[in-house]
Amino acid sequence: MALAESYILNEQHVAVLASPGMGHIVPLLEFAKRLVVHHGFRVSFLNITTEASPAQTDLLHSPSLPSGLHVIDLPPADVSSLVKDEMLVVHRLGVIVEESLRCLKSVLIQLGKPKALIIDLFCTQGFDVGKQLSIPVYTFFTPSAAFCAFTLYLPTMDHEVEGEFIDLPEPVQVPGCTPVRTEDLLDQIRNRENDEYRYYFGHVRRLCEASGIFLNTWEELEPVPLKAIRENPFYQKILTPPVYPVGPLIKEHEPVTEADAECLAWLDQQPPDSVLFIVLGSGGTLTAAQLTEFAWGLELSQQRFIWVVRKPTDASASATFFNVGGDANDPKSYLPEGFVERTRGVGLVVRSWASQVAILRHRSTGGFLSHCGWNSSLESMTYGIPMIAWPLYAEQRANATILAEEVGVAVKPVKGDGKTVIGREEIERVVRLLMEGEVGKVMRSKAKKLQESAANALNSDGCSYESLARVTKQWKDLAAPI
Ligand code: UDP
Repeated sequence: MALAESYILNEQHVAVLASPGMGHIVPLLEFAKRLVVHHGFRVSFLNITTEASPAQTDLLHSPSLPSGLHVIDLPPADVSSLVKDEMLVVHRLGVIVEESLRCLKSVLIQLGKPKALIIDLFCTQGFDVGKQLSIPVYTFFTPSAAFCAFTLYLPTMDHEVEGEFIDLPEPVQVPGCTPVRTEDLLDQIRNRENDEYRYYFGHVRRLCEASGIFLNTWEELEPVPLKAIRENPFYQKILTPPVYPVGPLIKEHEPVTEADAECLAWLDQQPPDSVLFIVLGSGGTLTAAQLTEFAWGLELSQQRFIWVVRKPTDASASATFFNVGGDANDPKSYLPEGFVERTRGVGLVVRSWASQVAILRHRSTGGFLSHCGWNSSLESMTYGIPMIAWPLYAEQRANATILAEEVGVAVKPVKGDGKTVIGREEIERVVRLLMEGEVGKVMRSKAKKLQESAANALNSDGCSYESLARVTKQWKDLAAPI
């Protein structure tokens, strides 16, 4: 980690620490880029390399990063004896982060003690190191403001509720916010007895220790939870740090592979707003039965599509979280027989990973079937694309509800009582509804308005830009570290 002296001594230097997973790396990297490009900072982006996916490595070593942004690969930690195949995502992530961050203090000292450390939600070891080195530590909260309000309320719930949250008779009344239905509660808090909850709660309960919380949202998109966090007496009583909505920060440049180039060339041949883009986030996978129904429903809808497929698994909906981009299976081996041939010309099947933003911003893309990860949701709104909400894990069910019921840019397929999969007729129905129905038109027009509002927020006189400028000014005004 040899760094030029001028770099180490540069006073406008901050460090950003992301936990693994594209949903975390992507927004923190965009945040780091903005600090460099718009606010004149040098940024050390600390990359946890242990079990990094191929897609993460490609993104962080892309030649398009601005020159003031330095990706510092933290030495890989040996987690072989600690990580087990059956571990759930956050538990596994927690172990990887814990082991990888043992070097954090010495790395920050070597970097000449940056003016601030901005950490991801799952890297709260950063608070302890920040305290030891007298560096202010901020959190970059990657999900929505609504979910931030919920998270800040969770320690109170944990204290007050006996038994499981999912057994509560009523929706959770988050102070000042729309109540959250128990069926929308995130996976990590559905069983308080397991290690997944222990790791999750261990991190999120520390959110109030931050000097400030950056949120990947903007004022016009989420006025209610933002107002609640700032003004509701509950949040004042728990000494909530200031929140700074700085979004939507989404991927701008991404590596375009040969397969992506093919997709884009195919899109060039299609009519405007005519193609449904289907991808379930960086880790999303369907069960074999659901994948089969999905393929049939899509074919029956007769709509144009690009579908990023992954080998199905019945084990976990987030099966590819740690190895996305590394799937070498031939889709024909798991899609219904003849699907690829029958849909040739109408649709494209892409293996494992595609340049999502490049496809969303193409004029021929008119709908997005998404797992409703917050980054994917922001990317869709940024390009004015309405959605079919197909939540799978984490807080995605709550995001889907917000997008469908509050923002009005998504439709949710209905599973039907007692069913384990969403049937092909229902899939056909929602695809048609979005791509050729009146409801789809209304959602598209709402999405286009949001696109404008998102762009305004990021302009140099926009609220998200100003919000970040307020904090960077404070950092610039700080005395040089001793
Ligand atoms: N992504 C992509 N191509 C894919 C799948 C995902 O570029 O084939 C990107 C997507 O654009 C987004 C991120 O991966 O920036 C996924 O983040 P999100 O929060 O939506 O979901 P998560 O992966 O955390 O479940």
